[in-house]
Amino acid sequence: MLDFHIHSDFSVDSKENLDNIAKKAIERNLKYICITDHVDFESSIDGADIMFRPEDYFRDLKKFKHKYKNDLEILVGVEIGMQPNLYNRYDEFINNYPFDFVIMSIHSINGKDIFNSFESPNLDPSKTLEIYYSEILECVSNFNNYDTLGHIDFIDRYLNTQYLYGEKNKISIIIEQILESLIKNNKGLEINTAALRYNLGFIHPKPSILQLYKNLGGEILTFGSDSHVCDHIGYEFKSAERILREFGFRHLYYFKQRKKYPIDI
Ligand SMILES: [Zn+2]
Ligand SMILES: [Zn+2]
Repeated sequence: MLDFHIHSDFSVDSKENLDNIAKKAIERNLKYICITDHVDFESSIDGADIMFRPEDYFRDLKKFKHKYKNDLEILVGVEIGMQPNLYNRYDEFINNYPFDFVIMSIHSINGKDIFNSFESPNLDPSKTLEIYYSEILECVSNFNNYDTLGHIDFIDRYLNTQYLYGEKNKISIIIEQILESLIKNNKGLEINTAALRYNLGFIHPKPSILQLYKNLGGEILTFGSDSHVCDHIGYEFKSAERILREFGFRHLYYFKQRKKYPIDI
C-alpha cells in the first residue's frame, strides 16, 4: 500500500508536520509514501510564485527519510501547477533538484487559479470544461518532464458538470486525446481519492474516463490521497483498489529517482 500525493507544511495550504505524516502512514500500514508539496509558479492573485524553499525542503526531507527508514520508504516529490507559458521554468526547476516523482496538475485556466476564481455565476459549464481540458491537452502535448498527470477531472470539485461527461462530445474527444498522449509518452494517470472527500461520489478520474483509459490500453496508474492533514493519508485506498480491479487494472506504480516500478493490487 502506498500514497504518492501528500502535502506537508511546506505547502501553503497545509499545516501538517512530517512526523505526524510518518506516524499515520506507519499506523495505516503504508510501505511507500511520497511527499508532493505544491509549486505553483505565477499563480497567486498578484501573479507571484507559490512555493517552498527547495534547499529547506530537501534538507528536512533527507532527515525525515532517514529517521523512519526502518518502517517506511519515503520519497521526495513535488506537485507542479502547470500553465502553458511555464514549460521552460518548470523544466529548469525540476532538473535542478533530485526529485523522485513529479505530479503535473492543472490548477488554473487562462492564468486564473480555479480554486480562487471559480465563483462567477456567469461561467458556462460546457465551455469552461472545454477550455480546461484543452489546456491540459496543450500541457501534456508540450511538456515532458513529469511522471503522472494529477487529478485529471479536478475541475468537477468546483463546477456542476457531471451531466456533460459520458457521451461522445467535444469534451470527451479532448479527454481521449489527453489519455492517448499520456499513453504514447509513457506517463502516468493519477488515481486521486480526494474526490470522495469532496462528495463527488467517485474517485478522480471518474468511471467514464477510467474506462476510456483502460480501453485505450493505459496501464500506468499512480495513487494519491492528496492529503493536507495526516488523517487523510491513504484515504479510501481500499475503495480505490476495488474500483481499479473492477476495471481490470492489476498494478499501481511507484516512483523512485524518476523511474517507475509496478506493485500488484
Ligand atoms: Zn492539485
Ligand atoms: Zn495536491
